[in-house]
Amino acid sequence: MEIIRIDSLVTAFIRPKEGVNAGLIHTPAGVILVDTTSSPAEARSLLEASGVSLEEVRLVINTHSHSDHTWGNQEFACPILAHRSCLERMQASLESNWSQEVLNSYLSELEKSDPQKAVELRSTLKDLQITLPTQIFEQRYLGELGGVHFEVIHMGGHTPDLSVVWLPEARVLFASDLIFQGRYPYIFDADIPAWVARLGTLMEFNAAAIIPGHGVMCGESGILTLRDYLQSSWELTSEHVRLGHSDDETATDPAYPLFPGEKYERLHQANIRYMYKQLSGL
Ligand SMILES: [Zn+2]
Repeated sequence: MEIIRIDSLVTAFIRPKEGVNAGLIHTPAGVILVDTTSSPAEARSLLEASGVSLEEVRLVINTHSHSDHTWGNQEFACPILAHRSCLERMQASLESNWSQEVLNSYLSELEKSDPQKAVELRSTLKDLQITLPTQIFEQRYLGELGGVHFEVIHMGGHTPDLSVVWLPEARVLFASDLIFQGRYPYIFDADIPAWVARLGTLMEFNAAAIIPGHGVMCGESGILTLRDYLQSSWELTSEHVRLGHSDDETATDPAYPLFPGEKYERLHQANIRYMYKQLSGL
């Protein structure tokens, strides 16, 4: 993990290869944590690495409901702020894909396919108490702590509930999973045309620094690369559907934009199959 200090106001926790990013906003009245990562242990380790105590965290922001952004929530006694639909999606997940039954069956599958990951997940689940946001907003939340202004802005795209965090004075943008920098994005809860449009909106911030949800920090070129991947893939898939091609034929077309040197070719093919399903109304 890389710990990058931006402008004395922000600490970015960046995992360049795998895993999720998070960040801190430092103010004279305490610290704001943007996303709590995938486990309580991981959340604690970020704070330790940056010399910040749990008590100094005055506010937590969940940018969206995915487990790798919210499963560290239980460590924090302060308010946890999120968009209303983030809370609703987490509540729904507790009854479905995060239920004990579903997690157990996922775990036994994982034991066969990736034993090391299964050990990690088992240890996370042992102490996990999924903790919901305690404070919700609609559209846009304008906040201030210790004289530092911040905005949490609902955007959708990657997931319907996704928000970004914007520091207008320092011009720092926490883009969350609207940006996967230098790698294939996870798109299985996404509205692709909305995501493409939101990437255009991100350009308008004219940010001095952008912290993506996954991958290293980026500028406009990181936004454009992902926008090109999503837009070209969506258009090419729609052409395949129009021509009546099968999903196998579509997913293996070498004409799609690829991330060079990326090992997650399978994720790319899964992405194309997801788009195929969406576009063919399956
Ligand atoms: Zn996500």
